Amino acid sequence: MDNTPVEDYQPETTELYAKHKKIYPQNITGYFRTLKWKVSGWVMAFYFLVPWIRWDRGEGQPDQAVLASLNLGRMYVFNIEIWPQEVYYLTGILVIAAIGLFLATAMAGRVWCGFTCWQTVWTDIFVWVERKIEGDRNKRKRFDAQPWNFDKIWRKTAKQAIWIAFSLLTGAGFLFFFNDAPTTAMNLLTGTGSYEEYGFTALFAGTTYILAGFAREQVCIYMCPWPRFQGAMFDEHSLIVTYEAWRGEPRGKAKAKDLGDCVDCNLCVNVCPTGIDIRDGDQFQCIGCALCVDACNSIMTKLDRPGNLITYDSASNQMAREKGLPEKKRVIRQRTISYSFLLAAVAGLMAFGLMNRTELEINVQRDRAPLFVQLSSGEIRNGYTFKLLNMVNVPQTYTLSIGGLEGAQISVINIAKDPVKQVTLEAPGDEVSTFRVFVRVPRDSLDDRFEDMDFVLTNTNTGEVIEYGARFAGPDN
Ligand code: SF4
Ligand code: SF4
Repeated sequence: MDNTPVEDYQPETTELYAKHKKIYPQNITGYFRTLKWKVSGWVMAFYFLVPWIRWDRGEGQPDQAVLASLNLGRMYVFNIEIWPQEVYYLTGILVIAAIGLFLATAMAGRVWCGFTCWQTVWTDIFVWVERKIEGDRNKRKRFDAQPWNFDKIWRKTAKQAIWIAFSLLTGAGFLFFFNDAPTTAMNLLTGTGSYEEYGFTALFAGTTYILAGFAREQVCIYMCPWPRFQGAMFDEHSLIVTYEAWRGEPRGKAKAKDLGDCVDCNLCVNVCPTGIDIRDGDQFQCIGCALCVDACNSIMTKLDRPGNLITYDSASNQMAREKGLPEKKRVIRQRTISYSFLLAAVAGLMAFGLMNRTELEINVQRDRAPLFVQLSSGEIRNGYTFKLLNMVNVPQTYTLSIGGLEGAQISVINIAKDPVKQVTLEAPGDEVSTFRVFVRVPRDSLDDRFEDMDFVLTNTNTGEVIEYGARFAGPDN
């Protein structure tokens, strides 16, 4: 029983938010660090160079190979031009990316987070700048703790200036995917850009500066949803960064006897960008960057002990190794087969769709008021608003006729005043052309109040025939 006098009673409180502890990741060299820099190089090259690749699409057309033009309402990827109504191709790309991520996670754990995620790549660059100017971990810690003086002021200022410059470059780089890169760069540099161009550059630059300069590991730990549900993609054969506790424990100083291989040097913790100790077991804060593997291997090499005390391995293989059993690695398993099959199926569907993609879209609306007109000749006439979207950038010529309605004739305002069996329509490149089309049929051709019919378009250059189903309304019989 609690005998605390009521007046002295203090209720227990729980902090809802952990106080942020600044992390000073230590520099390390090794296989994974080198691999990370190489991957970062590729990500940077993709981000900063792709918008500058030119692609000739003919006169008056954008000559940027990869461009998601908001002004034109179209996306260009080399010779593919995607219109807003074909947004399912973008959905397909996102689905492929998601399944690819599931597959990569099932096979090699958080490789995306540790190596290719842009938060990781940009943070790495920001930390590299910080390290170059303020020094490595211990020096930076001392530097932050010391009072302000000239050295501290100029170094902090230089770091911030480089961070801001790189953030601005990143912000502008993002904009180049949506606007012609050379024109936009010139606008921004000469002060002739629009408010939108400056506004979005500032917005993306600000986001980069905050996320890579300050939020860093907190984005991975608190903001990104991926660590929360990636566990569903893992199984015991997925590769993860793990500590061989059965070999490392009990840990202790190198000279002590009867201890495990871990000399408790803490280097693996010091290099960790999220500040965790992998020896405590698998943790969702671990982004799988494998820098602790490099760190521990450097110590093991110095001590002439076997490497990979912290290793990139699967749980099943670790269990086998612990028991002295043969290696147990299974790359091909039900999970990876399912993801690969799904990936191939969606990619195949996308490829099929792109190869058989029609370059003409038709949209027809029948007049509702009046539904039909009975002409003095006794014929019944329906009016249609007929839209042709020519999705290639060269003009096309089509003949239009009616199928499925006996004796049907067409007239088109400003093109064919008198009714004929077939009219010729011109569709300029990259445009929607709208025609007012009237279809008339003899009264006795109609059996029902509504009859099915087809608008039949034939491309005069290619001979391609496209049929568009519509309805024809007549009086009650
Ligand atoms: S524990 Fe190792 S692999 Fe995980 S985030 Fe830290 S350094 Fe990277
Ligand atoms: S780096 Fe290796 S030896 Fe040093 S504390 Fe970490 S696990 Fe132990």
